[in-house]
Amino acid sequence: MNKKIWTKFVYIIISAFVFGIFLYLIQLPAFRGFLTGVENKTFDLRQSIVSKYAKRSDKITIISVDDASYEYIVDKYGSWPAPRVFWAKLISDLEPYNPNKLIFDILFLQRFTADGTSDIALIDAVNKNKNVYVSINFDNYSEEIRIPPVLPSALQNSIENDYLIKTNPELVYSNCRTIISEILNGTKNIGLINVHRDSDGTIRTMQPFLYYNGSYYKHLALMTGLDYLDLNRSEFEINKKGEIELDDRLALPLNADGRLILNWYGPEWTFNSVPLWQVISAISKKDKEFLNNNFKDKIVFVGVTANSLADIKSVSVSSMFPGVEVLATFTNNILDNNFIKRVNPAIDILISVILACIIGFGVMNFKSPVKSVFLFFSLIAGYFVLSVLLMLHFNLWLGLVAPFVFGILVFAASYVIKYLITSRDYEHTYKLAVTDGLTEMFNHRYFQEQMSANIRASKRYNNVFSLIMVDIDFFKKFNDTYGHQSGDAVLRQVAQTIKRNIRSTDIPCRYGGEEMSVILTNTNKEDAIKTANKICEAVRNKEFELATGDWTHVTISLGVASMPQDADTTEGLIEYADKCLYVAKKNGRNQVVFEFPDGTEA
Ligand code: GH3
Ligand code: MG
Ligand code: MG
Repeated sequence: MNKKIWTKFVYIIISAFVFGIFLYLIQLPAFRGFLTGVENKTFDLRQSIVSKYAKRSDKITIISVDDASYEYIVDKYGSWPAPRVFWAKLISDLEPYNPNKLIFDILFLQRFTADGTSDIALIDAVNKNKNVYVSINFDNYSEEIRIPPVLPSALQNSIENDYLIKTNPELVYSNCRTIISEILNGTKNIGLINVHRDSDGTIRTMQPFLYYNGSYYKHLALMTGLDYLDLNRSEFEINKKGEIELDDRLALPLNADGRLILNWYGPEWTFNSVPLWQVISAISKKDKEFLNNNFKDKIVFVGVTANSLADIKSVSVSSMFPGVEVLATFTNNILDNNFIKRVNPAIDILISVILACIIGFGVMNFKSPVKSVFLFFSLIAGYFVLSVLLMLHFNLWLGLVAPFVFGILVFAASYVIKYLITSRDYEHTYKLAVTDGLTEMFNHRYFQEQMSANIRASKRYNNVFSLIMVDIDFFKKFNDTYGHQSGDAVLRQVAQTIKRNIRSTDIPCRYGGEEMSVILTNTNKEDAIKTANKICEAVRNKEFELATGDWTHVTISLGVASMPQDADTTEGLIEYADKCLYVAKKNGRNQVVFEFPDGTEA
């Protein structure tokens, strides 16, 4: 087969094979899960880079119930959670400093309290102040444990064209934690604080809406963010791009699971955060400057950060992230409209194929492996840098894993192909180097090599082997009569006849001119003489075609020498066979001779 076609054929077959493996693996759930996990880690890596350039909003303040505040409350009230009257007082004490919002990332659960007045104070404070927000939480408890509550219609939303949220069973809940019913029915500032963790336990996405009992409910962070931007409503629609479009300032790009991908803010740019105990002390000292600085017109979150209260989450940029900061990050993403958009995975595959082609082309065409390894790594590194820049400037999450995995597969496969092709090239070159072009017998150099090898092997293992030298009779005359073209044609046919009459382990060579030789491995003299006679007879009986198309006969003379009895060196054996040949010529040609009288000269 033509070498170029063969190369392309192998290349296409192996590429198709690699692509096939890739497609097969990619549809296995376990493999996809693995790839998604790795992809998520590359997202975290990129986030830890780009978050360094993202500044948090200065409109947000966090009142953190840190370990010291927790101790303060336990000291003062004897227990955690703090009694409701404590929170009621905090609200009324902060209101004079005009916080834009006061958001409680704390569940005021419906339960019996000995101190009824305490509940009443909180109910009053929450329902009276329209800037106070409280939280609820969906779960999937069975009805035997808790009858799913009916939530007030003021909290319900509708989403038109929803093909993402209601279709993801993880976003559909069957039960809800009830909070104090007077609050539940007394304010519409109630949002969800459910979080979603990926299979590795890390929070990367948040659900803007959850579905419960025939309606959609807003996440607390979404609700406060929309209220702040004056974009809140109860009717929504998902557009063709999979976004919930609110106005030209804000669109919420849902991912394929109906969630929003958070864009984190780096550790350097921490939210303005004050411990609860410090706030209480500032209130009692009437420290107006502190209170105005921290709360006036701010979106204020109140939440637990104390390690001992264990509201610590793992997120893309940190494994120790307080839950309330996750909430604040979500709200901040709404204020900045900077959620991450996942690039369509079909584009990942397209890029994978392009990258793979470049890598494959490079490996196949660069002679030096250093160059192709360099190309491979610079492409991968370049692609990574590109993906970081896309995330930094356009909030895009470009898939890294598919192109990487595919790139590595193709890199390896290209090397295998290249190896196969070069080894085949080598075989071909080697064959050319040891073959005689006219007769397609082995050439003189190979003959010499094989003679030496056989002599060495015979000496070592006490083997026998034989050599037949062949010379065409009256060939000069033949050439003169019929021309060199016909001479060549006959030479080729004699070579073929010789090859047909020997074993596959025998080595037919063109010794030079019209002289040929056969090395018969592991063959004693008696058998070699038989073979020589067979060849002699075959040539004698054969009709040879001339270049002109005519037919004629030729004869050959043969001399036989064997190791070890006739000689035990290459020169010795050749000389012996030559002398036999000489005798054959002298005795009338067209015969085999295997011994000669003393004094014979070749
Ligand atoms: P003899 O029977 O004694 O061997 O007579 P001869 O004419 O064959 O004598 P010799 O072996 O010395 O002749 C060698 C001749 O073979 C010389 C040359 O014309 C011819 N010859 C050698 N190599 C080639 C070749 O490659 N092609 C052709 N056409 N002729 C060749
Ligand atoms: Mg000759
Ligand atoms: Mg001759």
